[in-house]
Amino acid sequence: MVIIGSGPCGLVTALELARLGVPSVVLTSERQVSQGSRAIVFTRRSMEILQQVGVADRISVNGLPWRFGNSYYRGQHVFRMEAPHDPDDRFPPMINIQQQYLEEFLCDACEAQPLIDLRWGNRCTGVHQRDDHVLVDVDTSAGPYGIEAKWLVAADGGRSPLRSMMGLQLEGASYEGYFVIADIRVDLPLPTERLAYFDPDWNPGNTVLMHKEPHGIWRVDYQLPRGETPEQALHPESLKARIDSQLAMIGYAGAPWELDWSSVYSARALTLPDYVHQRVLFAGDAAHLLPIFGVRGANTAFQDAQSLAWHLAFVLRGLASESLLANYSRERLGAAWEIIEEAGKSTRFMTPPTRGFQLLRNAVLSLSLSEEFVRPLYHWRTSRPHEYTLSSLNCATDDNHRFTQGPCNGAPPRNARLGSGGFLLDHLGGGLDLLYFITQPEVPESLLAVIAKARRRGVPITLTAISSGNPGVPVAGADRSLIDQDGHVRNRYGVTADGAGYLLRPDQHICARWLTLDATRLQEALDTLTAA
Ligand SMILES: Cc1cc2nc3c(=O)[nH]c(=O)nc-3n(C[C@H](O)[C@H](O)[C@H](O)COP(=O)(O)OP(=O)(O)OC[C@H]3O[C@@H](n4cnc5c(N)ncnc54)[C@H](O)[C@@H]3O)c2cc1C
Repeated sequence: MVIIGSGPCGLVTALELARLGVPSVVLTSERQVSQGSRAIVFTRRSMEILQQVGVADRISVNGLPWRFGNSYYRGQHVFRMEAPHDPDDRFPPMINIQQQYLEEFLCDACEAQPLIDLRWGNRCTGVHQRDDHVLVDVDTSAGPYGIEAKWLVAADGGRSPLRSMMGLQLEGASYEGYFVIADIRVDLPLPTERLAYFDPDWNPGNTVLMHKEPHGIWRVDYQLPRGETPEQALHPESLKARIDSQLAMIGYAGAPWELDWSSVYSARALTLPDYVHQRVLFAGDAAHLLPIFGVRGANTAFQDAQSLAWHLAFVLRGLASESLLANYSRERLGAAWEIIEEAGKSTRFMTPPTRGFQLLRNAVLSLSLSEEFVRPLYHWRTSRPHEYTLSSLNCATDDNHRFTQGPCNGAPPRNARLGSGGFLLDHLGGGLDLLYFITQPEVPESLLAVIAKARRRGVPITLTAISSGNPGVPVAGADRSLIDQDGHVRNRYGVTADGAGYLLRPDQHICARWLTLDATRLQEALDTLTAA
């Protein structure tokens, strides 16, 4: 396996592959982690994925958690957004940390993983597809060389040289309007909350966003008036005047600040029509470009990486045929189009593309001064995991439709606080997870026989008993027993009787659930997963 790119997508793909026992070489043209104003907001689901690859604790220690947002129109506070958070969530809805720190943590995890060979300063300059492998040309300061890969992951970012080398085109929309992204060092005694200012005095008709980052940095994003070029906007005098005005508007006139980084951004919502091109598999920004409103780029790239890694590992282990990779493309394309649809709404609100959208937005904004009911329209949706509801990997003969609660087939799992301490998701991952809800002291022999047979084929599967039995007495036959004496996990999973089960894929999305599990039904679900 060769992966091109050491951004969030390439690094998480390598780490996930390693967890599934697959070695990889990561080639990156860079000599260091990314610099400058890039991602800062990461979602709860991203943290759950990053927990799987061992970096969530470092992000939690170094990042700034948040769940509230405030929107202002012409100086008046009009909406307070509150993202849901309950005691069953290990991670906050959002956490702010600069992308370069996140990449540093991921690189450290890769360096500590013997199955990953991370090569800095190795630029991919050519790709030659063969029937059963890919030849990759690589350029380094010590001279060029070639490397042969069974499969090649193109995680080479938004400008993807691989996409160009292969003559592939993105589809979708690009939006007019530019934003300056300025990271400034300033001491503002404000909580970590998202701040959005519509039509402020100093930037009439436009939008300004502010986010607090770790290490005394604030991100100020402001929309440029029509007709102004990026070069004009990044002129030091222009930057100074506008940031001074923004600080004055929020009550900190004259606060000393210095510029850490600035760039200009314009929103695009584009995707490749297919992510699998013979032996080259696209993921992250190389596969799709998503608007930053709603924090979708890296947060989506983690989900691509997690999905791609297990699909590939199953093919490499001979557990499924190469056609399983078409499922990766299908599922992640579904996610990209859903995001593009939602992000389009957010982007049209933030930077109205036509006079019609401008009129509509102005109507919402001015009505919101007096009318409560329009205020929630300020709330643009943030990134959330796509549900693979129609996936062909979902078991057709299970009890999915008979459950009245709990995560359904295709959905990511629901975390749950355990009575014994910790959370359910702390214990899962690294392969398929079978959750078996049981009061009996032992798992039926017939189920264990199916699991043993799957393991003999090389299927990585772990049986976790969610037991309401005697604490301290492990359920015989289970790989792990988690005690659920008060039935809290059962309730979250809609389990009403003994012997219910949930099967989670290696990306943790549910692919089968049963009110009563037996050996035949488990075998059917495993066959569905490996039928490709
Ligand atoms: C201003 C701004 C704010 C953002 N805010 C957010 C946010 O808050 N939340 C969020 O989720 N997303 C955000 N994003 C998006 C996020 O930064 C990207 O989606 C994310 O970096 C994509 O990760 P990636 O790994 O796919 O690509 P990249 O991070 O671009 O990584 C590409 C990698 O490929 C390597 N590479 C390129 N060409 C070659 C080659 N020929 N050979 C070898 N290596 C190569 C590069 O060196 C790099 O390591 C923001 C983006 C911007 C610009």
